[in-house]
Formats: sequence, structure tokens, C-alpha cells
Amino acid sequence: MAHVGDNVVASNMELERLLSMKGGKGEASYANNSQAQAMHAKSMLHLLKEALDGVQLHATDIPFVVVDLGCSCGDNTINVVDVIIKHIIKRYEALGLHPPEFSAFFSDLPSNDFNTLFQLLPPLANYGVSMEECLAANNHRSYFAAGVPGSFYRRLFPAKSVHIFHSAFSLHWLSQLPESVVDKRSRAYNKGRVFIHGASEMTANAYKKQFQTDLAGFLSSRSVEMKRGGSMFLVCLGRTSVDPTDQGGAGLLFGTHFQDAWDDLVQEGLISNEKRDNFNIPVYAPSLQDFKEVVEANGSFTINKLEVFKGGSPLVVNQPDDANEVGRALANSCRSVSGVLVDAHIGDKLSEELFQRVERRATHHAKELLEQLQFFHIVASLSFAL
Ligand code: SAH
Repeated sequence: MAHVGDNVVASNMELERLLSMKGGKGEASYANNSQAQAMHAKSMLHLLKEALDGVQLHATDIPFVVVDLGCSCGDNTINVVDVIIKHIIKRYEALGLHPPEFSAFFSDLPSNDFNTLFQLLPPLANYGVSMEECLAANNHRSYFAAGVPGSFYRRLFPAKSVHIFHSAFSLHWLSQLPESVVDKRSRAYNKGRVFIHGASEMTANAYKKQFQTDLAGFLSSRSVEMKRGGSMFLVCLGRTSVDPTDQGGAGLLFGTHFQDAWDDLVQEGLISNEKRDNFNIPVYAPSLQDFKEVVEANGSFTINKLEVFKGGSPLVVNQPDDANEVGRALANSCRSVSGVLVDAHIGDKLSEELFQRVERRATHHAKELLEQLQFFHIVASLSFAL
């Protein structure tokens, strides 16, 4: 646990070691605050299935390997892996082939709560029985599971070993903060802000460059690891504006009440200006063009689909008229994804203070939050260029 103190700064080297969504099953955990992602994923299922229909199947695929990158902890990753494997089994059967055994790899950074994730996994179906029985037993999984710790911006798997790569709501996380953004001497210094929404062009361009360098690393690693005939389905936060200082839904999430809450801490003398300015959310919501440029420069992949897809609100509330519930939902949603970084930067006590202020501010703006907070996603379906 990080302790309170002015020198506790999550340095770039540490981001990979530190970053995770909030683990466990508590109120602000990711497992408890990812229903919106589940709904957004559901609305894109037809695109996922279309991508799966393009995977080449062979009788010799033993085992058939499916990977979820940036799996986090919760039901979403388990559900999507289940959808993928069931769809592929159906396709084998339609071809009159006996489905092979499946391996599913759940991959994320090392501080991800893999323990809770493994506990959520349904029991393994009895592989001694027929595949029909496996499929009939709905509470069972028909694949062997393993966790793979490491950054998806580098190699994670042996060459030519993976049939399907899936990654949802993860690639907008940068591997590190661009150094210039927290360097006072740099023109890209993000003075007064904790995110690039509304920041200077220089700051936003530093983020954009980092995003593109990271995505290039991701694609070149996957191009070694993916089997010929395989497929990759990627979804990440995206934006509709060409201007990177307009981060759309991500901008509203991190650039308004969250930003104001940091300013509250400064004004109340709880932290210094500098302390706030040294904190930046390492997220970049790319435009279609930002994304496309990298795929094209890499050259290994054919773009089967690349579009911006309207995801909807990240807030899931039972009673939209209850401003308190909306405020709490926004604070929890913000905390489930950024809480670990905030804790490390200002300590648990001040982090608690910060998210209380986020909640208070969001409660006051509940109605407009429900109306305006919308996420867009980049959806990419890629396979090898012939
Ligand atoms: N796919 C899940 C979770 C998305 S949350 C879902 O659909 O609900 C985003 C996840 O990406 C987090 O768990 C975070 O730890 C992970 N992530 C961020 N940067 C990463 C990196 N460089 N390598 C691997 N995982 C990363």
C-alpha cells in the first residue's frame, strides 16, 4: 500500500508494475463497476461474431488458443471468452469437424487481481464426456484456463501460437505517461490539469505520439504471435473529434468533476499545485485516423473492419432521478479505473477525500451527466495481410 507523502509519485517506470483496475469485489471494484462495459460489449457482439467467422479452422488445431488481453477482473472477460469458444465450436460442427480442445489465456498487467478472476471461473467441464454434454452443461467452461502477466505492448506468447486475440476497453491505457507532460521545463507540461481534455496542443500531441508508439508495439508483438488464418478483435475508447484535446466521453469522465475535485484539494491546501500537476491519467482516446495510421504503418494486418461505434453511458443506475445514486455511480466508476493510480500518488486518505469530492460534484450535475456522458469506441477487426 502506498503511503501519504509528497514524494510518492507514480513514476513512468512504475506504471506497468502499478496499474490495475480496482481488484476484489467491493463497492468501487472493477468487478462491481463494469456493467456498462458489459452492455457495450454486448452491443458489439455481431461485429465480434463476424470477425470469428473469418478465422480459418483446421482439423489439426490442437489446442485452439484464445487470448483476452487486458482481461481485468470480473465477469466480462469470462463471458466474452465463453462467447468466442462457443461460436468457434459451432463453426467446427457446421463443417462436420470434431471441435478441438481449447486453451484460453487471460492476460493483464501483473498487479491485476488474477486471484479473484480465477475464483470467478466456472468449473472445467469434464473433458472425458462428449462435447455435446460439455455444451449442455452451461455452468461449465469448455476450455483450459491460464493467466498470463505482462504488458500487451510487448511479447507475451510464443511465435505463431494464438488463433484469436481479443481485447476490450484496454488499449486506450498508455504504457507510460509521456515524460514531457510532467516535465516543468517542457512546452508540453500539462500545467493545472490531470488529463489532456482541454489541454494544450503540445500536451495532447505528446499523448498521441505515446499512443501510436504503444499501438505499434502491440501490433508488432501480435503479428509474431498470431497464427496464419487467425484473427484479432480490438475495442478501445475512441473519439469522434479530430482534435485530441477533445477526448469525448473520456474527457468528461476525467476532465470535469474529477479535475475539479483535484483543484478542490489544492484550494483547500491539502495538496500542492505541483502535486496535482504531476498526476496525469495515462489514457488516450484515439480517433479512427490515429488508429488507422498505425495499423497501416505496421503493414502486417488487413483491416476487415475499423469503425467508431457508439457505446453509450458508462453509468449504470437503477434510479436515474436519484442524483445521489448518479453521483455515486460516477465516483465509483472513476475510482474503479483510476483509484489505484490516485492511491499511489497521494495516499489512501487523500484519495478518499478526492473521490468524495468527485461524488459531491457529480451529484450536483447528475442530470447533465446522464444526458451528456457518452462513450465511443474504436472497433477493429484485423487478420493477416495475404
Ligand atoms: N477487458 C475487460 C477489462 C477492461 S479494463 C472488460 O471488458 O471489462 C482495462 C484493463 O487493461 C485493465 O485491467 C488494465 O490493467 C489493462 N491494461 C492496461 N494497460 C495494459 C498493458 N500495457 N498490458 C496489459 N494490460 C493492460
